[in-house]
Amino acid sequence: ATPTALLVGTGRGAQLGILIKGPEILEQTRRVDTVVLDKTGTVTEGRMALVDVLVAPGEDRDEVLRLAGAVERLAEHPIARAIADAAEAEAPALTGEVQVGGDGVVIGSDQVHDFHAAAGHGVTGVVRAAHSGLGLSRRVLVGRPTWLTAQEVGTDALQERFDAAEADGATAVMVAWDGAARGVLVLRDPVKASSAQAVAELRGLGLRPVLLTGDNPGAALAAARVVGIADEDVIAQVLPADKVHVVERLQAGGARVAMVGDGVNDAAALATADLGLAMGTGTDVAIEASDVTLVRGDLRSAGQAIRLSRRTLTVIQ
Ligand code: ADP
Ligand code: MG
Repeated sequence: ATPTALLVGTGRGAQLGILIKGPEILEQTRRVDTVVLDKTGTVTEGRMALVDVLVAPGEDRDEVLRLAGAVERLAEHPIARAIADAAEAEAPALTGEVQVGGDGVVIGSDQVHDFHAAAGHGVTGVVRAAHSGLGLSRRVLVGRPTWLTAQEVGTDALQERFDAAEADGATAVMVAWDGAARGVLVLRDPVKASSAQAVAELRGLGLRPVLLTGDNPGAALAAARVVGIADEDVIAQVLPADKVHVVERLQAGGARVAMVGDGVNDAAALATADLGLAMGTGTDVAIEASDVTLVRGDLRSAGQAIRLSRRTLTVIQ
């Protein structure tokens, strides 16, 4: 391949908002036959919105939301942002900015200690109400019921409603403290307007689209159906560390794999794929692990990148 033509190809890519790390990457791009799509933030907006708060008998909705929000404020996941924002908007009494008065007293904010994020499972932290009248301390957990159960949290009071929310295509997390689940937070993340067209174009290029996500099968299938990915090409509830193994398994079966993702949890899979494409709207870790950055955060750019490389290499040969 002549370097000049490849440079022209990368220059054309830049005009389209497709940043290619080096001219040689165009050669790999052409050979790809399978394209693995991360769900959250790649096919969907990645902007979860809290749509419902379900509470166990005797629990207070605002307290569930406030305590979950206090812990999620320290986390990075789209789920975390949605919960923290909703808590601030709907249960604001104690979740505002930390304010230090003239005498050094912290007013109007919960304090969180011992925060820990378990990738693909949930988050936990000890929340202490800083407000003088409410000096109690609680270890709060927000995450998957299976993760809560493993920590001896009882989930029975809410399990049915949790399962129903997931079956309905939502993403749900449980909130627990003192050994019992107290509430379920139901979130939804709309599919991007251009994703269905993007998937159709990838198919038109002869590629097989596969949806890969850490989210539950209900949410995964719902998103897949919106964009036109077959149920059997949906791989759900994959832990962050296992996404790379899915790519390796496809490669072992003879596929040449492109992976499109945006999250920290996609980085290893992006680096292992024959071609890694990162959403420009995603995390720096994902962008660094990839060969190509789709600056516009529009999935249609993935098909454009593949078309561009094929055209460039046809010109050369
Ligand atoms: P995706 O592949 O869709 O980006 P992740 O692997 O990051 O998803 O997360 C998978 C699941 O782990 C989430 O659907 C949720 O159940 C749980 N989880 C991850 N982060 C959090 C968090 N900050 N708070 C609560 N639950 C979380
Ligand atoms: Mg993602």
